[in-house]
Amino acid sequence: MPVRRERSRAPVAPAPEEVYSGRILRNGRLTTVDVGIAGERIVAVKAHLTGGKRHDLGEQVLLPSALDLHVHFRDPGPPGAEESFDTGTLQAVYGGVGAVVDMPNTAPPVDSLDHLEEKEGRARGRAHCDVLLYAALLSRTPVEALGRRAAGFKLYLSPTTGELPIPSWEEVPALLDRVAATRLPLHVHAEDPGAFGDLASAGDARAWDAARPALSEAKALSRLLPGPPSLKLHLAHLTTRKAIELARAHGVSAEVTPHHLLLASPASTDGRWKVNPPLRKEEERAALFGEFAQGRVPMLASDHAPHPLTDKERPFPLAPAGMPGVETSFPLLLARVRNQELPLTTVLQAISERPARFLGLPRGAIAPGQEASFVAVDFRAVRRIRAAELHAPCGWTPFEGFPGIFPVLHLLRGETLLSGGEHVGSPGGRILRPGDLPPPPSVRPLTGLPTEGSPDRA
Ligand SMILES: [Zn+2]
Repeated sequence: MPVRRERSRAPVAPAPEEVYSGRILRNGRLTTVDVGIAGERIVAVKAHLTGGKRHDLGEQVLLPSALDLHVHFRDPGPPGAEESFDTGTLQAVYGGVGAVVDMPNTAPPVDSLDHLEEKEGRARGRAHCDVLLYAALLSRTPVEALGRRAAGFKLYLSPTTGELPIPSWEEVPALLDRVAATRLPLHVHAEDPGAFGDLASAGDARAWDAARPALSEAKALSRLLPGPPSLKLHLAHLTTRKAIELARAHGVSAEVTPHHLLLASPASTDGRWKVNPPLRKEEERAALFGEFAQGRVPMLASDHAPHPLTDKERPFPLAPAGMPGVETSFPLLLARVRNQELPLTTVLQAISERPARFLGLPRGAIAPGQEASFVAVDFRAVRRIRAAELHAPCGWTPFEGFPGIFPVLHLLRGETLLSGGEHVGSPGGRILRPGDLPPPPSVRPLTGLPTEGSPDRA
């Protein structure tokens, strides 16, 4: 009689309730498999699975859904804001994004528990994908209290939309230590206003780049880095190869945006090209794209800023800075994969795997034990991006006419959000906080931060 060995094995995975048959990226190649899910999780990935309801996706490719580390959904927003958790997360769903990190420069800003609870109330029951809510790191922020409730913190080192009071450089080290003690991530908008030129008279996108130069980014980084060793530091929207190299040298997390990868600053007075940090010259853009393509940029995020067209059509110096992008990030990159400009592995690492790991969320891969949060795309179905076909109330995109590959299917924890490319279901997004937080660090007082007179690494 054969010896029964089952007892010594790991617990048997539950039988799949649904099976999605399609191709996945495995060891660098696309392989046809069955992905079995039960409840909210992937329970098996095998050549053939039996049982469960089958969905044959043919040549379509299953990819883990994206996690956008940087969006502004303006909810609550100032008068005239058209975006909300409802509209913002719906765009995310259409763009293959299963979770977003929403930034705190709303009106009012997330600088107190009351304001955070108000924002949670607005997201609850209205979000179509998961949301992580960050708090603003200001001089007055009750870091310890907010650290028990928020998903992370955002520090602005230069003025931004919402006009938050910027902490002085002298206050920054103590603020970093306080965030380090919460074990939550800190995202930093790193531009040093000390290196800005005359912003008010910058009348076009190239003048905007000249007035908020790459030097201001390099200066901010050289003053900020390395930060406390126990701080989970993440640099938002880096725009230059030099900044990427600096982040790598310090082992610090960083993101780039699709607009800095794909758009150079045009000689245009159109306010739609105004963004912070500015679009750079073509040479710099190409260098940044090269860094990304080589896999040297940890993550990609949209910095989705849905300013109404009426505001962007004001004269350049008066137009608000920022561009929408949560719906187009993943599709834009997938089109570049099809065009063999980017490896699929690199894209998935930057848009899904590393953001999930950074936030300790059980997603970012098509593998047993992971959440069943994934999309299916047809790489043959390239379409020209048209604002009129997107789902943004702001009604415009800086990527008009660019090729994009949009998801056909989108699942969030096993629930179908998109089927045949169309939205189905009701808002089932959750408010998440980072999981698997590391053990409490021993917070050391921060010393050795570069001071005013220290050499500028730019
Ligand atoms: Zn932003």
